[in-house]
Amino acid sequence: MFTQTSRPAAQEPVRNADGESLAFDGVDLEQLAQRIPTPFHAYSASAIRQRIGSLQAALSGLDATICFAVKANPNLAILQLMANAGVGADIVSVGEMRRSLHAGMPPERIVFSGVGKSADEIAGALTVGIHRFNVESHDELLTLQHLAEAQGVTARAAVRINPDVDAHTHAKISTGKSENKFGVSIDEARRWFAERRRLSHVQLDGLHVHIGSQILTLEPFRLALQRVAEFWRELEQDGHPITSIDVGGGLGVCYRAGVDQPVAAADYVNVIREALADYRGKLLLEPGRYLVAEAGVLLTRVIRVKPGIERQFLVLDAAMNDLQRPSLYDAWHDIVPVSNASRPLTTYDIVGPVCETGDTFARGRELPECAAGDLLLIKATGAYGTSMASTYNSRPLAAEVLLNQGRYALVRRRQHFEEMIAGEQPARHWETA
Ligand SMILES: *Cc1c(COP(=O)(O)O)cnc(C)c1O
Repeated sequence: MFTQTSRPAAQEPVRNADGESLAFDGVDLEQLAQRIPTPFHAYSASAIRQRIGSLQAALSGLDATICFAVKANPNLAILQLMANAGVGADIVSVGEMRRSLHAGMPPERIVFSGVGKSADEIAGALTVGIHRFNVESHDELLTLQHLAEAQGVTARAAVRINPDVDAHTHAKISTGKSENKFGVSIDEARRWFAERRRLSHVQLDGLHVHIGSQILTLEPFRLALQRVAEFWRELEQDGHPITSIDVGGGLGVCYRAGVDQPVAAADYVNVIREALADYRGKLLLEPGRYLVAEAGVLLTRVIRVKPGIERQFLVLDAAMNDLQRPSLYDAWHDIVPVSNASRPLTTYDIVGPVCETGDTFARGRELPECAAGDLLLIKATGAYGTSMASTYNSRPLAAEVLLNQGRYALVRRRQHFEEMIAGEQPARHWETA
């Protein structure tokens, strides 16, 4: 049995000796916010490298490749960091493929997932020669065969199995239940392999599973992998060799200190080792959140404190367009002041300026008393933060900064107004369809 061992200490924002300021990856955040106007996202390169390292260490001795789920954070600097660390990419669109290639990711380390790959996207990925397609429907399989034949190439493919396992996570990020749109049943996958030899241009020799996101216990992974392993053995006996098993992503992280207890990478990998003990082929892993979530913070200033009718509101310059998770999933993010942490506590609803009640980061949250201009930190925003950002309310996309051992680099400047409206035009040319 596995113990929930504590993870190696993550690179976290740390308070200076006087308790009055915060540094992240060696960079003083108050000083950083003097140089870069809020709101902006900051990512610790050291923290990301540490996560990659802990997973790679846990995988030692296995023929395994980590393919970062690009949708968690597609900033080119992050992808470049991944590429340099030997990590590949799990993409769900050609846009993500182009970003990955642009960042220097070799095509042999790119896998393509998703239920709605269009013919154009499949053709584009075939042209580039990506490592593997995770196929999610029979129609997609036939399209892949057709397009590979047209290009005179052979596509490597895995069936995405829907193992009908409850990941015990938020319903909107559960993907491995039979009612979800993802993957196919084992019965259907069995039929694909039965007709495998008729696929002249698809090498169907892989299995793929991804049951959801922000999973905080090992049991769902164990169940899903047991089902995959059982199916793999059946396929081997029936003469269908499997050379690649992709175990997906989903490893949870700590959003709420003292409450969320993520599993350790080593324990997670032990579940893979146990379930697939007699498997000798290649393993693929697709972590997204695990590698980047806790490495990111959103820096924001208090615009004003608004005494409401029933509650006190802390109105920030960051909003739901910069970080959607609280409004989309009722997600908790720890929020701390960068300075003045020793003021007496008071209770706030912490909101953004967007014209939606859903633009709320936290309700009834205790914080040291704040004043206009104070700098706050919203924690664990490195995954599904900027990647889900929008310009709602015509707010420009926020800047992104990479921190590394006492230094910082601007890796995305704040969007200009002109960029926001680029592509829009008055209705000048009227045409008939
Ligand atoms: C989103 C996604 C991932 C990554 O999920 P995380 O919870 O961020 O680890 C991996 N694989 C697939 C197919 C995905 O859609």
